[in-house]
Amino acid sequence: MRIAALIVAAGRGTRAASPGGGPKQYAIIGGKSVLARTMAAFAGHPGIDEVKVVIHADDRELYEQSAADGRAAKLTEPAIGGPTRQASVLRGLEALAASPPDIVLIHDAARPFVSGKTISNVIAALNDKPGALAALAVTDTLKRASEGIVTETVARAGLWRAQTPQGFHFLPILAAHRKAAENGVDTFTDDASIAEWAGLDVAIVEDSNSNIKITTAEDLEVVDRQLSLTLEPRIGSGFDVHRFCDGDHVWLGGIKIPHTHKLEGHSDADVVLHALTDALLGAIGDGDIGQHFPPSDPKWKGAASILFLEDAVRRVRERGGRIGNVDITVLAEAPRVGPHRDAMQALIGGALGLSADRVGIKATTTEQMGFTGRREGIAAMATAMVFIPTE
Ligand code: MG
Repeated sequence: MRIAALIVAAGRGTRAASPGGGPKQYAIIGGKSVLARTMAAFAGHPGIDEVKVVIHADDRELYEQSAADGRAAKLTEPAIGGPTRQASVLRGLEALAASPPDIVLIHDAARPFVSGKTISNVIAALNDKPGALAALAVTDTLKRASEGIVTETVARAGLWRAQTPQGFHFLPILAAHRKAAENGVDTFTDDASIAEWAGLDVAIVEDSNSNIKITTAEDLEVVDRQLSLTLEPRIGSGFDVHRFCDGDHVWLGGIKIPHTHKLEGHSDADVVLHALTDALLGAIGDGDIGQHFPPSDPKWKGAASILFLEDAVRRVRERGGRIGNVDITVLAEAPRVGPHRDAMQALIGGALGLSADRVGIKATTTEQMGFTGRREGIAAMATAMVFIPTE
């Protein structure tokens, strides 16, 4: 039996503008986007064979970033959504129909905390029913009101709050969605309603309170704070040296600086970026720059070292980590670093997603002692603070 998860992420999320101003499903909570967490919840479930996301046409780049963070193994090409949630789901189902699964679980991207148990329970309920949805029994007393005055207390017995995932046998829910679209019925707010409308039985699966839907900017703040409490600080250090050879410039911190010599190396020999890359790798215990980019590999000949740094950043983010700050010291008699500090901070900050006040760049001579003092080469050391989720 093949089971696909269809994650609906095409909304504009206007109620919860994320800090970057983008749609809420791409907001970062605890170092990872909401969508990346939702994808990982399904991709990490052993019963799920395929994960497809329905995205807005404008969000391709945001989606790719989340996909890189969300265990890409089971991901297939995203579908592009339509003007309403219902239209977006239909487009996703049509995309899956090319090689139809037996079962589809339709889920809102804004519910990143769905548990493996809920996913398993919805799948199990589909053994003898064509549809099943995760839901919570209503426990609050319900009031109907008019103009701010209670007019009635509504009996809550038998009432449930519909959540997602909502699972269905694939062909019947595809047929129901197509029929609704053909009939111009486009006001359904969930897929269980479409199944009911089409006459399919839908079973209730009791969900847990943790499967919240992130709706407002306040929700985003609250979950980000909670997740950040479980981040563990890690520290890493890096050191690098390159010797001088004939030339007229050096690369330091990604900046080309005129000089009487250049630095010898397989790549651009940027000691600052090499030390910093090693500091990040050290903080997550993931080897070193020479292991990931062996000097013996001709592919890296003359490479711009920012590539190495970006790879280390990717490795931190893959673990759900965030970088707190970095601090660098250059050891050289010359050239002077001061005039280039702002440019280095901007370039490194850009690669790390850090403001300039989180990128320390300092320089010292070694009082004409030792190899740097004799102007045989340049050394750099770096420290990086990284926060990694403990979950
Ligand atoms: Mg090096």
